[in-house]
Amino acid sequence: MNSSNYYKIEGGKLIRTHRSCPKCGPSYFLANHYDRWSCGKCGYAVFKRKGSSKTTKAPRRSPRKRSKA
Ligand SMILES: [Zn+2]
Repeated sequence: MNSSNYYKIEGGKLIRTHRSCPKCGPSYFLANHYDRWSCGKCGYAVFKRKGSSKTTKAPRRSPRKRSKA
């Protein structure tokens, strides 16, 4: 195994391209998926967040009251 696959040099700095599993230890890296990182050993998964306020996209207006009849 070539462990250098988990790192890359960018701007003279060492960038870790893979995350390690907090459960299995730093020697176990998480597989990079399009929307998450997952550990092949224990199944630990970290979901990626693209936006911090993605769920609060709906405009906040006055709370909708249910019109009962
Ligand atoms: Zn793990």
